[in-house]
Amino acid sequence: MRVLVIEDDALIGDGLKTGLEKLGFSVDWFDDGADGAEALFQMPYDAVVLDLGLPGMDGMSILKSWRDKERTEPVLILTARGDVDNRIAGLNGGADDYLAKPFSLLEVQARLNALIRRHNGRPNPELKIGNICLNTNTRSVSRNGQAVSLSPKEITILELLLLNKNKVLSRETIEDKIYAWGGDVQSNAVEVHIHHLRKKLGQDIIKTIPKIGYILEDK
Ligand code: CA
Repeated sequence: MRVLVIEDDALIGDGLKTGLEKLGFSVDWFDDGADGAEALFQMPYDAVVLDLGLPGMDGMSILKSWRDKERTEPVLILTARGDVDNRIAGLNGGADDYLAKPFSLLEVQARLNALIRRHNGRPNPELKIGNICLNTNTRSVSRNGQAVSLSPKEITILELLLLNKNKVLSRETIEDKIYAWGGDVQSNAVEVHIHHLRKKLGQDIIKTIPKIGYILEDK
């Protein structure tokens, strides 16, 4: 899942990027409001973490500009503790949730996962197909009830395929979701991850549609 973070505090921004990437998200972090506002139109983001006080363009104006252009990406705003007015203004302005600073990384993860699930119309944290189950809260996968060990990127690709069950996803779409700008992408990276997923979950679980992409189908 690809997340856009707009935060001018270097400690918080770097902490979010590093921490969320360890949890399997790919993160593009901007410390300037105007640059961050524009970034939403460049990549298919699954969610946004938005600070309110920002140089270039403030968070509330960014949010308004996106919602005016009918952008529906889920937005989690960061507010100062006890700042009830900004929280209300943010929610009324089209934010989907808020977090008061200081916050824990695990709370950001939980809220982002919940926002992404709801945005995809899947309120249940367990995504399933056949005998495979992915728990999006614990980032754990089981097959026939037995835990399967997957890398963070493998889990993210499986999650993408499950959220888009019965739809073909192109290799480019998957790449855009799992690699941030400046990340080291090898040309066959997605194929390699899919190969590992098949080895661990069963050869027939992910179908290749030649020249188009990959699909998980209900049998
Ligand atoms: Ca700030």
